[in-house]
Amino acid sequence: IIILGIESSCDDTSAAVIRDGILLSNVIASQKVHEEYGGVVPELASRAHQQNIVPVVDTAIKRAGIDKHDLSAIAFTRGPGLLGSLLVGTSFAKGLSLGLGVPIIDVNHLHGHVLSHFIRTEPDDVVPEFPYICLLISGGNSQIILVKSPSDMEVLGQTIDDAAGEAFDKCAKVMGLPYPGGPHIDRLAAEGDPKRFKFAKPHIAGLDYSFSGLKTSFLYTLRDNIKLDPDFIEKNKADLAASLQSTIIEILLDKLRKAVDMTGVKTVAIGGGVSANSGVRKAVADYCEARNLTAFIPQRTFTTDNAAMVAIAGHFKYLDGIFCNYDEAPYARVKI
Ligand code: ATP
Ligand code: FE
Repeated sequence: IIILGIESSCDDTSAAVIRDGILLSNVIASQKVHEEYGGVVPELASRAHQQNIVPVVDTAIKRAGIDKHDLSAIAFTRGPGLLGSLLVGTSFAKGLSLGLGVPIIDVNHLHGHVLSHFIRTEPDDVVPEFPYICLLISGGNSQIILVKSPSDMEVLGQTIDDAAGEAFDKCAKVMGLPYPGGPHIDRLAAEGDPKRFKFAKPHIAGLDYSFSGLKTSFLYTLRDNIKLDPDFIEKNKADLAASLQSTIIEILLDKLRKAVDMTGVKTVAIGGGVSANSGVRKAVADYCEARNLTAFIPQRTFTTDNAAMVAIAGHFKYLDGIFCNYDEAPYARVKI
């Protein structure tokens, strides 16, 4: 089974080829145009996807060493994401599928993030055993998911306001760091003191998250201190980043521990862009080691948006015989 995956939900145009679950190629074209605006501009994103999609898919097929006529199916991200961006990938997938006479498979982008641990780069790579818990932490979502099978996922908890990635990005923005700020916070945090500043943590029962209070508390800390010293941010950026990161990690881990205790699962995985964060990766690995749980920490390429995760999610649907019709449109919002 050879699946071509296409991802175009936000600002990365990506294509990947997977043969029998093993990754043959994964090409990602990131869009630099958004940097100067401090966030993704939807109109510019869809235009850049249109420019990127043909060369990206072409390169993915060439690097995989296959012929496009070898494809068994084409999987594409149908949502959630920016509608104009999704339309580019969806339309391209439909056109190519008609041209080649192979079926199309629609993929929920969030399922892709969760299933990214099933992307094998070598045949003997170990994959999670069901059921397991996946902490999905990305730019738009923060969820604790009980994964029972590739098609059966139960959301145990989720954010009631901002996502973890938004907390990173918005706090980084007020510090004057470029977009997306998550990786910059990560880099600065490595040299800072995580105990230097205290920020508010939410008090919510159950397994739901909240990050908007932390964001406000971070903003007030900056505002109050800048009044006393205009160079406050510049002088303290490493400590600010380290303290912010460690607070986000404490919030994430607190509910993750609860979810593991409640379900009794033995395997914990993380996924989504924020799972690229060094502090998050270490905290989850340490926790799992202390509790004798098996941890799945994804390769960094598979944390942020990529088509390999779309291809593997498509692979599972192919095995179940679930395909998509040509009249199905992309959707901006959709749940797990
Ligand atoms: P969703 O998947 O929920 O639709 P998205 O696709 O926009 O949202 P991803 O691409 O999975 O999100 O992740 C992007 C987020 O990951 C951004 O908020 C970015 O700042 C964050 N991120 C990436 N690398 C790091 C890092 N090293 N540390 C912290 N955050 C990071
Ligand atoms: Fe994503």
